Amino acid sequence: MLVTSEQMLKKAREENFAIPAPNFFDLDSARTYIAVAEKLQKPVILSFAQTHADILPLKEAALIGKFLAQNTNVAVDLHLDHGQTEDFIKEGIDLGFTSIMIDASYDPFEKNIERSKNMANYAHEHGVFVEAEIGHVASGERVDFIEESEQKYTTVEEAIKFAEATKVDSLAVSIGTTHGEYKGNPEINFELLSKIHQAVNLPLVLHGGSSSGDKNLKKCAMGGINKINIFTDFCLAGMSAISKKKPETYFDLKKATNESMAELLEHYYQVFETR
Ligand SMILES: [Zn+2]
Repeated sequence: MLVTSEQMLKKAREENFAIPAPNFFDLDSARTYIAVAEKLQKPVILSFAQTHADILPLKEAALIGKFLAQNTNVAVDLHLDHGQTEDFIKEGIDLGFTSIMIDASYDPFEKNIERSKNMANYAHEHGVFVEAEIGHVASGERVDFIEESEQKYTTVEEAIKFAEATKVDSLAVSIGTTHGEYKGNPEINFELLSKIHQAVNLPLVLHGGSSSGDKNLKKCAMGGINKINIFTDFCLAGMSAISKKKPETYFDLKKATNESMAELLEHYYQVFETR
């Protein structure tokens, strides 16, 4: 069933666990994620990033997401990830996305507040759940982004001010992860996470979950992070399945990559202790 992430994230916050938010970019990936959620009977935040609109147009993403969500018995939030422009996000809302992220984290703090607040007003009028980001989760080995960008950690003071001023429903925080693949293990600032968790009464979101290490991710899920975005790891799992299994036909290749992505998502459900 198609829902907003409000109830699932509320429960996740109350019970200290996280919900996976895997990025889909075609029918296969979306179908794979939903099949895993259905098999485990757990909620999923099915995410589509604006940067992938050149691979899969927004309208098709909305059709795929809504169709799959409406034809399963588990709760599916159809999420517009990293919305960078207001027009694109509004189009997503019109097309039936049930939650959106406005990513104005590239902007100066006051501008980020203004844009996130305006978008939250618009989205709330349409019954849509809103995530915004403060601080900035950088992108290293760019897979889902075009440019390199600099890391900016979230501060507790900013988090409090931002939450109050914008009235967004969830907060993406920058605590040490980066987008894409790591060259080493990330240094996650758990103390900072704990302080933000205590100071702000909102579900927190971790971007750049890929390759962060299971131990780190579990600790985040137990410590205030309620949604974890995963993208790059699915691409890596697919490529690794291809090189290991050496499929001889295109259909064997599709089967191998789909299966590897399903296994990975199932694994992350366990790591995040999703209920
Ligand atoms: Zn992200």
